[in-house]
Amino acid sequence: MKEQGYFETAVIREGYDTKDMLGSLTPPIFQTSTYTFETAEQGERRFAGEEEGYIYSRLGNPTVRVLEDRIAALEKGEKGLAFGSGMAAVSAVLIALTKANDHIICSSGLYGCTFGLLTMMEEKYNITTNYTDMKSKAELQKNIKPETAVIYVETPVNPTMKLIDLQMVAEVAKEYNIPVVVDNTFSTPYLQRPLEDGCDVVIHSATKYLGGHGDVIAGLVVGKEAFLNSIAVTTQKDIGGVMSPFDAWLLLRGLKTLPVRMDRHCDNAEKIVEKLTNHPKVSHIYYPSDHDNPDYPIMKKQMIRGGGVISFEIKGDKKSAQQVLNHLSFVKIAVSLGDTESLIQHPATMTHAVIPEDTRKQMGITDQLIRLSVGIEAWQDIWSDLKQALDKI
Ligand SMILES: *Cc1c(COP(=O)(O)O)cnc(C)c1O
Repeated sequence: MKEQGYFETAVIREGYDTKDMLGSLTPPIFQTSTYTFETAEQGERRFAGEEEGYIYSRLGNPTVRVLEDRIAALEKGEKGLAFGSGMAAVSAVLIALTKANDHIICSSGLYGCTFGLLTMMEEKYNITTNYTDMKSKAELQKNIKPETAVIYVETPVNPTMKLIDLQMVAEVAKEYNIPVVVDNTFSTPYLQRPLEDGCDVVIHSATKYLGGHGDVIAGLVVGKEAFLNSIAVTTQKDIGGVMSPFDAWLLLRGLKTLPVRMDRHCDNAEKIVEKLTNHPKVSHIYYPSDHDNPDYPIMKKQMIRGGGVISFEIKGDKKSAQQVLNHLSFVKIAVSLGDTESLIQHPATMTHAVIPEDTRKQMGITDQLIRLSVGIEAWQDIWSDLKQALDKI
């Protein structure tokens, strides 16, 4: 069922028709590993791709398929694929797009484990990566080599919340025929749709806002049908990091409220930014829709609102940052983001600890930087806890 139009309807209806499933309002969980064939010849036709139908749940599952169709519609892409984690999605895409001795251009600052994967690809396959701010066409062009196989972008950049102009990157990449892959985890398709800006592939850690309830680890990829079909029969099928039917069901459930949750995440984050701005212990705030943010024009161009993640620097050192975390009781100390609960972490010693210190500093991840994922509780509860913790340092 193709429902065009409103995002708020698509998150609830797209990709599923109750008529197909005995009227079941909610997509059933097809908790099966394999599917029986009527005859040997039918099995042959399924394997040859001459007949539609399921074979084995690593190659496709009806519950998972509903989710794949839904995320494709939300990102305005041709096809979606589901993975067992965000990192399974990232690795399936990057391994599919590269071969030994290739080159990758990557945003300066990115998810710690993606950095770990790129480092491993360099060590094992001599696939080198250049990290750049992608601030201008010229800067991007300067980094392109004949063997550049992928441009990989996170925007907002985790955890510094810098922004990269997706249309600009896509324009340069088109000239050189290089695919642009965007990790859209922080924004979700409700706030930013990279495929509409001309990028080629979108990746999600669905663990975060898409699931939204802190109860599932999952990944999603959206892009052109031909490319995703090639992933489906190579790095998805043969590396095998697929999503379970139950996790797909949890995600379908979480997705239904994505627009409602995101609006509240943004409302709360804006309130907290306003309060943090006036706190004497806070020296810098990094939030996309903050008017003082140098990347504000990019935010206006490609994002609807700033999202639910705020990074800020406090006056002091690593110890002071750790003290702020230790003084909190309502806001929970945890990595991850996008949950209904407010979560706080210290990137330099947690999510980004794998990045060598000088590279980390170059990326702007200082010891005083704290990342807050603003939940959808009452903002007053979030702020009163943060305020008393900051007051104590
Ligand atoms: C969490 C995260 C990932 C990895 O996702 P998992 O589901 O934890 O494997 C990748 N990119 C970003 C931006 C993330 O926040």
